[in-house]
Amino acid sequence: MDFAEDPDRRLLREAVREACARFPDEYWAERDQSHTFPWEFYAEMAKGGWIGIAIPAEYGGGGGGITEASIVLEEVAASGACMNGASSIHLSIFGMHPVVRHGSAELRQRHLPRVATGDLHVAFGVTEPDAGLDTTAIRTRADRDGAGYRITGRKVWTSKALESERVLLLTRTTPAAQCAKRTDGLTLFLAPLRDPAVAIRPIPKVGRNAVASCEVSYDGLYVDAADRVGEEGRGFTYLLDGLNAERVLVAAEAGFAAADAAMQTHGGFGYASEYHVERYWREARLMRIAPVPQEMVLNYLAEHVLGLPRSY
Ligand SMILES: Cc1cc2nc3c(=O)[nH]c(=O)nc-3n(C[C@H](O)[C@H](O)[C@H](O)COP(=O)(O)OP(=O)(O)OC[C@H]3O[C@@H](n4cnc5c(N)ncnc54)[C@H](O)[C@@H]3O)c2cc1C
Repeated sequence: MDFAEDPDRRLLREAVREACARFPDEYWAERDQSHTFPWEFYAEMAKGGWIGIAIPAEYGGGGGGITEASIVLEEVAASGACMNGASSIHLSIFGMHPVVRHGSAELRQRHLPRVATGDLHVAFGVTEPDAGLDTTAIRTRADRDGAGYRITGRKVWTSKALESERVLLLTRTTPAAQCAKRTDGLTLFLAPLRDPAVAIRPIPKVGRNAVASCEVSYDGLYVDAADRVGEEGRGFTYLLDGLNAERVLVAAEAGFAAADAAMQTHGGFGYASEYHVERYWREARLMRIAPVPQEMVLNYLAEHVLGLPRSY
């Protein structure tokens, strides 16, 4: 199998790399320490057309797929921007996929061109204090109110809530007990965030501080039905269209690229030795092409990380 990148993708990679090189380690260190959003970097990514790379061309995007999106985020992270840079653009790049696939024509036309240019900042509101990986346990609810809904609840870890005008928000419209499946009765909105009924508070965290992740309270936020994504009750299925791509993109950012950056930017200071990074790359590449069963991974960790005897 030929893993060589085609010329268009190679050009894309080189262009993103060149743009990212204008933002040295000192820029990222300062942004992280001062907890300041990297506006200049974001503007550069928008200018290159990379924020809209995966949005269909009919809405002004680049019409690319998950591979093009991964190339952009890999290069951003590998440049030394790491998760500070990647998180500043991550959600706009593929997070709107549920809107692209399931939003009404009017909703798509109203918002996607502005996402593609980088003008409309968007966040993602799924996680709650008592519903992390157990997504169907969310309690934030949307109750019918005239031509729209009233949303009440609390989300945590909503990244970029401070900068965003809209949030892709998962709510419950039918109690789980009344649904045939727990995944039914959930509804997705592209809801406004700049509203007196919304309170946003950054959560203190270690690292990736150029992009705040926040606790967001919704106290009867009115959302017009026109801002609902697709049909009521089908939000969980729609969400998967964004989450499946997100897994690939986070791997591109956090795995391959951050290891590369650690070697390039800190290798000389003993943070990451050439040996470890080389080995990481080799093993990561192997994981890409060879299916490895969980048992093999656990055996490897037991022997090489925990130092247990091979017979374990
Ligand atoms: C920096 C940062 C940014 C984020 N940005 C966003 C964002 O923008 N939008 C958003 O919606 N979310 C965001 N998140 C949330 C992230 O998606 C969640 O952290 C993730 O979904 C896991 O949820 P949790 O942290 O509550 O973990 P949990 O669900 O509490 O899981 C923690 C661990 O416990 C295990 N576990 C859980 N329940 C069980 C059980 N019953 N039995 C055995 N093991 C169990 C899990 O497998 C996991 O390993 C962000 C998180 C961070 C840290």
